[in-house]
Amino acid sequence: MFCGINRVVMRNNRKIMIAGNWKEHLNVSQASHFMHRLEESIPIRQSVETVIIPNVLILQPISVNLDRRKFRLGAQDGYFVDAGAYTGEVSMAMLQDLVHYVLVGHSERRYVFNEGDDVVAKKMQAAIRNGIMPILCIGETLQERLARETKQILHNQLTAGLMNLTSREVAASVIAYEPVWAIGTGEFAKPDQVQEAINYIRKQVESLFGKRTASLVRILYGGSVDDLNAKSFLELSGCDGALIGGASLNQYKFAAIIEVAYRVQQERLGR
Ligand code: PEP
Repeated sequence: MFCGINRVVMRNNRKIMIAGNWKEHLNVSQASHFMHRLEESIPIRQSVETVIIPNVLILQPISVNLDRRKFRLGAQDGYFVDAGAYTGEVSMAMLQDLVHYVLVGHSERRYVFNEGDDVVAKKMQAAIRNGIMPILCIGETLQERLARETKQILHNQLTAGLMNLTSREVAASVIAYEPVWAIGTGEFAKPDQVQEAINYIRKQVESLFGKRTASLVRILYGGSVDDLNAKSFLELSGCDGALIGGASLNQYKFAAIIEVAYRVQQERLGR
């Protein structure tokens, strides 16, 4: 177990995170070649936390030669029951030696696999129970945005996802604002829309868990982020990184986004 929760809560500044969700792409040998190319393209940047989130088959082989100065691993999903008669499932308990992070509530899980807020809440608790830091994905559909329901949806998904967690556990978690209409569409949100959502999410965390927790929890943006638009999101106040799908499968784009994050972080640190 990584005991990551203790590590992050003790750190007061929020480290910028760039997480690449490979979704259902790359088999084991393709992933190992791609990882090799990524390692060549990406220098060690200690102020940026780069997380690779491949499919579950790839986690174990990649972990063997992973350059841990550059990368951490995350899982795309994990089941909430630690062990039992659940054919096809891989539990958080089984993932705990392999990953630091796990995605929970990604819109593809919510809308393609019909995972409701009850399942999301159980997965959040299972991740924490097994020492894995969850990246809770929340965001509105286009229909909900047009109906001006964005804040209500964020509120509902946030309160359901964080239900039964302590302030300390929430502080160690990561929240990704991912408007569903911007995921995999090339149609990214406008920076002012992202700013409004991030401010709202942090305020909600504050009202539920207090000021200190709100100042520690990391909030990312995800939705068609690439090397050309990354800066406009990463430099937003309170934006602690990005969750990236498509562009994380291109070594040049992904490396360029990490460099943008590094420069933004250096500016924040006044260097
Ligand atoms: C995602 O999978 O969470 C995502 C944001 O994908 P994309 O960057 O391709 O929109």
